[in-house]
Amino acid sequence: QVLMGSVALRREKTMRVAGRPLVELPPRSVSVVQVELAAEDRAKYDRLEGAAARVVGGLLAAGALMEHYTTVLEIILRLRQVCDSGALCPDHLIAHLLADDALDALRAAAAAGGRGARGGGAQAGGAAKLGEAERARLLAHLEAAAGEECPVCLSQMEPPCITTCDHVFCRDCIATVIEGKGGVAPCPLCRRQLSLAHLLDLPPPP
Ligand SMILES: [Zn+2]
Ligand SMILES: [Zn+2]
Repeated sequence: QVLMGSVALRREKTMRVAGRPLVELPPRSVSVVQVELAAEDRAKYDRLEGAAARVVGGLLAAGALMEHYTTVLEIILRLRQVCDSGALCPDHLIAHLLADDALDALRAAAAAGGRGARGGGAQAGGAAKLGEAERARLLAHLEAAAGEECPVCLSQMEPPCITTCDHVFCRDCIATVIEGKGGVAPCPLCRRQLSLAHLLDLPPPP
């Protein structure tokens, strides 16, 4: 926001210039068109929707929905992508959402008190305190995301690492952010408090 504020002007459609609306928009019209998904996309959507219901239900039951809201936003994004075309949402992107033990891990993590981590200090424990299943889930996500762009430097991650809040960055980029704040900094994507102990690296190739 700070960056955008210095390089862009904000315009809103309610703004007026010399008494006239900045943009003259026609009245909104809404038409609902029912479409039939291709069989393959329908099957993918149903699988994803089932997994989504279990993940969100588990988080709700554990009272940890807000701690994992980025997971929920990702699920909504993936569901919408599948409605456009299953090709937008390849299996490797949703594997970590669909894997049954990933769901269990998420629930276990939520049940084990994801609550209260926000606010003062970094989340207790860091990566060393992760359960086996949660660690495996994060590493699987890191592996799948390894070729993607780092949200800090916008280049391919080199080397990639993942935070305990499930966000991937270049190891150096996120370490610089954390060290620049004296050792504890909010995650650039979800604002959870991170220290270097909350970073997980890919294991070296065998
Ligand atoms: Zn980077
Ligand atoms: Zn995060």
